[in-house]
Amino acid sequence: MSSLFDFDKPALYAVMGNPVSHSKSPRIHGLFAEQTGQRIQYTAIQVDPGGFEQAVRNFMANGGRGLNVTVPFKTNAWELVDTRTPRAELAGAVNTIAVQAQGVLHGDNTDGAGLVNDIVNNQGGVIAGRSVLLLGAGGAARGVLGPLLEQRPGELLIVNRTADRAAALAQNFSRLGAVAGCGYDDLADRRFDVVINATSASLHGELPPLPERLLASGAWCYDMMYGATATPFMRWAERHRAGKVLDGLGMLVEQAAESFFLWRGVRPETAPVIAVLRRELAKHG
Ligand code: NDP
Repeated sequence: MSSLFDFDKPALYAVMGNPVSHSKSPRIHGLFAEQTGQRIQYTAIQVDPGGFEQAVRNFMANGGRGLNVTVPFKTNAWELVDTRTPRAELAGAVNTIAVQAQGVLHGDNTDGAGLVNDIVNNQGGVIAGRSVLLLGAGGAARGVLGPLLEQRPGELLIVNRTADRAAALAQNFSRLGAVAGCGYDDLADRRFDVVINATSASLHGELPPLPERLLASGAWCYDMMYGATATPFMRWAERHRAGKVLDGLGMLVEQAAESFFLWRGVRPETAPVIAVLRRELAKHG
């Protein structure tokens, strides 16, 4: 009987997005494979708008075993898969697809686990019982809300430029815990222990309109964005005496590790991979 996969060749994985040439996923999964002795081949595939489903079918026809999905196709991936993990179901977005027996596509969303693992396991931070402010109500915010609420923060407030989007998002997740949504004007006189930037403001060198006194003493500030230099939000946090200021590189590697585990059943060590990427980022951007 012919098998869906050819086990003599390295197993085929890829990240699909547009743009995708900047993606660090091939490098990260290459390092995971080297470290764990897994035989995989991982490439980046640029997909035209409207071409996602066909690209996935072509990839499977070539024996592809799993995919990461990035902007702007995470919602398309959610619609395309046959089965979803509960966290992907809730997030309304899929960033990881595993091709299973008979070509069944299984979808997961590992972004939230990546964020929480980085804050709690890598950095020793605490979310449980703390007041948490999530900036932004787009795809990234939606992807991390479930795993953040699983940590049982004392309070989780979503703030967004378009306040209605924050309120609607909070409503969607309200059965998982105490979560509310508001606009930036409503932040006056509020203090938070953990502030997470899930806006795309840093991408454009911008800063969300944060009030001066927002951080509780020793507050942690986390920007999901990363780069060779500190983002505007990270610089703001340093100026406002945050206890800890972090970027999203750890989250990126942690979400990749969750994908790798789903595909290969092996959990790679993330710390050495984060260190390599940090060095490469400082050198080449
Ligand atoms: P979306 O386009 O879906 O959402 C953008 C959000 O940012 C919206 O809430 C928007 O508000 C808000 N926003 C944009 N500009 C500003 C501004 N100047 N001031 C205040 N709010 C602003 O983007 P995503 O959610 O997909 O991505 C957000 C970020 O998360 C990106 O930088 C991405 O790189 C990062 N990310 C990092 C990951 C990692 O592994 N480290 C994983 C996933 C994402 P409004 O609704 O009012 O327009």
